[in-house]
Amino acid sequence: MFEKIQNELQATNTTLVAVSKTKPVEQILEIYQLGQRIFGENRVQELLSKKDVLPKDIQWHLIGHLQTNKVKYIIDCVDLIHSVDSIKLLQEINKQAAKIDRKIPILLQFKIASEDTKYGFDLPALIPFLESEDFGNLQNVAFQGVMGMATFTDDQDQVREEFSILKHIFTQLKNQHFQDNQDFIHISMGMSGDYKLAIEEGSTMVRIGSLIFGNR
Ligand SMILES: *Cc1c(COP(=O)(O)O)cnc(C)c1O
Repeated sequence: MFEKIQNELQATNTTLVAVSKTKPVEQILEIYQLGQRIFGENRVQELLSKKDVLPKDIQWHLIGHLQTNKVKYIIDCVDLIHSVDSIKLLQEINKQAAKIDRKIPILLQFKIASEDTKYGFDLPALIPFLESEDFGNLQNVAFQGVMGMATFTDDQDQVREEFSILKHIFTQLKNQHFQDNQDFIHISMGMSGDYKLAIEEGSTMVRIGSLIFGNR
């Protein structure tokens, strides 16, 4: 299964984040040995303890909601934070990254699903911040794109529409706020159940867990 997905994603030039949350290190190593180097976790503690015992050339992505009081634990260990969903969190990441003199790659998470439970920015609420001086002061944050999760539903049209909304948000931000940022390139969308739709709608990075590692 993994190799089939790997080939499919290579053909469309899509980056694969293998979502290993709740799965043991032995299983992660099996996928590592098939060539995978990017793994995604949704909890800080779990990411840290796995990183400790697994090969050092793994790139760890944090994909789950991050509390501001946990930023200091993860700041030196993470290669990309997908789930930046508030200005307060952006400012905390900037502060902690400055202390260790790093620039931390992040994605801005947008709420595209109809469910109440999904975290994320709302574009109209974010724009005034992007035009403010405070935004310019985030010298230790590297903005690399956007992330979103579609509604958990069988309605393919709805899912497609939500992905297309995220693609539009990306394009608007790229053209109006990040036009000089060569690293603002990622649209992280698509999971086991909807990654093909996501790629059709312009995803550059999919986050796949259960299809690779089995059900949780
Ligand atoms: C768990 C998770 C995934 C992967 O979900 P699967 O359905 O197992 O592929 C992707 N993104 C986020 C944010 C997740 O929490």
